[in-house]
Amino acid sequence: MEFAFSTADAAFRNDLVDFLDRELADGWNRSEFGLGSAVFTEFSRGFVRRLADRGWLTPHWPEEYGGGGQGAWQHFVLGEEMWKRGEPRGPQYMNVNWVGPAIVKYGTEEQKKTLLPPITRGEVFWCQGFSEPEAGTDLAALKTRAVRDKDGYVIDGQKIWTSYAHEADYCFLLARTGSAADGRDGISVFLLPLDTPGVEVRRIDGFVGNDSFNELFLTGVRVPEECRLGAENKGWDIVRRTLAYERVGAPRYARAALVLDGLAAWCREAGLFADPGIREQFGDARALCEAARVLVYRVIDERAKAKEPSPKAYQARAAMVQAERAVGDLALDVMGAEALVEKSPGDAQFRNSLGAGIAAGSYEVQLNLISRLILQLPKE
Ligand SMILES: Cc1cc2nc3c(=O)[nH]c(=O)nc-3n(C[C@H](O)[C@H](O)[C@H](O)COP(=O)(O)OP(=O)(O)OC[C@H]3O[C@@H](n4cnc5c(N)ncnc54)[C@H](O)[C@@H]3O)c2cc1C
Repeated sequence: MEFAFSTADAAFRNDLVDFLDRELADGWNRSEFGLGSAVFTEFSRGFVRRLADRGWLTPHWPEEYGGGGQGAWQHFVLGEEMWKRGEPRGPQYMNVNWVGPAIVKYGTEEQKKTLLPPITRGEVFWCQGFSEPEAGTDLAALKTRAVRDKDGYVIDGQKIWTSYAHEADYCFLLARTGSAADGRDGISVFLLPLDTPGVEVRRIDGFVGNDSFNELFLTGVRVPEECRLGAENKGWDIVRRTLAYERVGAPRYARAALVLDGLAAWCREAGLFADPGIREQFGDARALCEAARVLVYRVIDERAKAKEPSPKAYQARAAMVQAERAVGDLALDVMGAEALVEKSPGDAQFRNSLGAGIAAGSYEVQLNLISRLILQLPKE
C-alpha cells in the first residue's frame, strides 16, 4: 500500500487542524470534563453542529443522504484528528461511523427520510444496546425479547454498559425475535426512540468516568414494525457487516500518542530524561503507537479499495490496545503518586487503557482470532 496521504486528503487534514485549533483552543480539555458528563455533552452538541455546517460531520456518506461523497481516507483523517484531541464529537462518532451507514444500507425509505437528516445535522445522539448481564463477548446469548403482536412488537429485557444512554435520543438495539436455540439467527435490530414508554435508563458508576455507563430496562416496550431495521432475524448479519470496520473506528493510538507527548513534557520538566531506562520506556511506547497507526492504515486501505474486511482488523485492534496500555503503564511508572490524582493525564490514560481492552471486542478475543485466522494455530 501507499503510506503517503493524497494531496486532497492532506489538504483536508490541514483545513481540519486549523478549524480544530480555533474551535478547541478555548479551555477544551476532555479529561477535565469527563466522558458522558453534562458539560462534555453540552460542548459536544454545539461542536458537532459547527462541524456539520462545514460538511465535516458525515463527509463519507453518500451525497443523497446528506454526506459529502468523500472516501474512506477522509473519514479516517477526521477520526484521527478527533481522537488526537480527546474525541470532541462525544457519542456522535457512533452515529457517523456505523449507525447512519447501517440505516443507509438496510433502512426503508421512510427510516432514511426521518432518521438520517438529524444525524447529518448533528442534532441527535444514539447509543448501542448490545451487551446484557449474561451476554457480552458471547453476544449471541442475548435474552432481550421482541415478541410480535398485532401492532408490531413488545420488547422486554435488560441491557448493560450502554454508554451515553442517559443523553441519547435513540438506541440501536439488538433483541431476540426467534428462539434461544436459533442463536445468532434469531436476532433483529430495532431503532428504538428512548422516550418510548417502558424504557428506563439507570446510571452505573464506572471506571471510565462516573457519567458514562448505564443500564437499560425494557418493560413491555411497544414499537411498531417500522422500528425494525432490515429483515426479522437477520440482525446478526447487519451488525457484522456494518461494524466490520469499527474495531479500528476509534483511532485510540492517536490519543495515546498525545498523552505520551504530555508525559514527555512532564518528564523533561522533572529532569527525568537523564535516566536511560525511562528513555527506553518512552521509545517502546512510541513504537507501539506507531505500529498501531500503520496496522490500522492497512485496514483503512482495504476499505478504501472496497475489499472484503480481512483478519488484519484483529491485529490492528490488538496493537491499539497494546499502545494504550503501554502509555497507561508508563504514566503510572513515571508520574508515581501524581498519576493517581483523579482526572490527571495519568489517571485518564490508565482508565482509557482499561476500557480499550474490553469495548468493541475484547483484547483476548482478538488474540484468539489472530491465532486461528492469521497464525492458523489449532483451536485448543
Ligand atoms: C468503555 C466501554 C464502553 C462500552 N460501551 C458499550 C455500549 O455502548 N453498548 C454495549 O452494548 N456494550 C458496551 N460495552 C460493553 C462491552 O461490549 C462488553 O463489556 C464486552 O463485550 C465484554 O463483555 P462482558 O463485559 O460481559 O465480559 P465477558 O464477555 O464476560 O468477558 C470477561 C473477560 O473474559 C474474556 N473472555 C471471554 N470469552 C473469552 C474467550 N472465548 N476467550 C478468551 N477470553 C475470553 C474477555 O476477553 C474478558 O477479558 C462497553 C464496555 C466498555 C469497557
